[in-house]
Amino acid sequence: MTWNPAPRCLADVEAVAEALLRDDDWLIVTHERPDGDAIGSALAMSLLLEKIGKRWTFMVEAPLPARFDYLEHYSKATVVSDEYAGRFQHVVAVDCADAARYAALQFVVAEGATVVNVDHHRTNPRFGVANAVDADAAATCEILFHLAKALQVPLSEPLSAALYTGILTDTAGFVQPNTTPEVYQIAAELLMSGVRPYDIAEPALEARSAEQMHLLQMALSNLTVSEDGRYAALYVTRGMIEGAGAEEDDVEGLVGFARSIDTVEVGILFRETPLQQVKVSLRSKRRVDVSEVAQRFGGGGHIRAAGCTLETTLEDAMEQIFTAVERALDEARV
Ligand code: 5GP
Ligand code: MN
Repeated sequence: MTWNPAPRCLADVEAVAEALLRDDDWLIVTHERPDGDAIGSALAMSLLLEKIGKRWTFMVEAPLPARFDYLEHYSKATVVSDEYAGRFQHVVAVDCADAARYAALQFVVAEGATVVNVDHHRTNPRFGVANAVDADAAATCEILFHLAKALQVPLSEPLSAALYTGILTDTAGFVQPNTTPEVYQIAAELLMSGVRPYDIAEPALEARSAEQMHLLQMALSNLTVSEDGRYAALYVTRGMIEGAGAEEDDVEGLVGFARSIDTVEVGILFRETPLQQVKVSLRSKRRVDVSEVAQRFGGGGHIRAAGCTLETTLEDAMEQIFTAVERALDEARV
C-alpha cells in the first residue's frame, strides 16, 4: 500500500484547480443548514483561494453554528443580503448535491456566471463548468485535501483543521461505512500537520447545549418503532424547538437515535420547518439505499444518509415516507 493517498478523480481535481486559477474573485457557497463537512470544506476552500492569491467571499444564509467557531475564517462568513444581488461572476459550490442546495443564495450570482462544483454526493448531476465529484469520498473535505495537493498549497494547521472537521463529522467520528483506508491515511497526514484530534472532536462532535439535550428528551418521548422493528422514527415540531429554546441546527444528529435501535435498518427524522414544510432525514445501516427514497420526493444524498423536503403536514409526510421506506425495505429484502 502506498502512503500518499491518490485521488480517484485526479483529472477532475486538476480541472477544478485550473478553473480556480483562471479567475480572481470567487463566491464560495455550500448547502443550507451547513454541517461540519459543508463548513469545513467552505473554509478550507477560502484558505486555498487565499493561498493562491485570490479574493473570496463565503456567503451564508444565516450565521454559522457556534460549535465550529474554532475554524480559521469562521467569523468571515458573510450573511447574504439584498445588496449582493447579481454581484458574483465566479462561484465555487462545495458539498452541494445540486444547485438547488444553495437556492437561497442564487440571486447573488450574476447571469451566465461560471460555477465550479466540488462534492461527494452520488446524486450530483455535475452542474458546474468544472466538477470534482467523487461519491466514494467520505467527505467533500477528502476531495479538497487532493485539491490542496493539486494547487501545491501546503497543509497549514488551519487548513488541516478545516479538512479534518469535514472528514471527522461526515464519518461520524471514523465509524461510518465510508471510513476507508484512505480516510485514515489523510487523517494521519492532517494530524502530522498539527491537528489535535480532541480539540476538534469535542466541539464538532461531542458538545451539546442544554437546549439541545432538552430537545433530545422531547424527541425521544415520541420515538416510534415499526411493528416489524425494521424502521423507527422521531419527529420535531415547531412547538418542540421553541419549547426547548433550541435552534434549527440542534436537530442535527437526532436521527441517529432512531437508526441505532438494534433491529432497525432505517431511521427517520421529521422536522417541521418555519415555512410549513416537513424536512425528512433518512439513515440506513447496511441494506437500504435511502438516497433513492429521498429522490422519489425530490431530495437526494448518499446511500446511507439522505434527505428531502415535503410540502405537507407532518402526519401526511409520515404516512408517505413510511410507505416508501416499507417498500424500499421489502425490495432490499430486509
Ligand atoms: P440531512 O438528513 O442531514 O439533512 O442530510 C443527509 C444527506 O442528504 C446530506 O449529505 C445532505 O447533503 C443530503 N440531503 C439532505 N436533504 C437533501 C435534499 O433535499 N436534496 C439533496 N439533493 N440532498 C439532500
Ligand atoms: Mn458532506
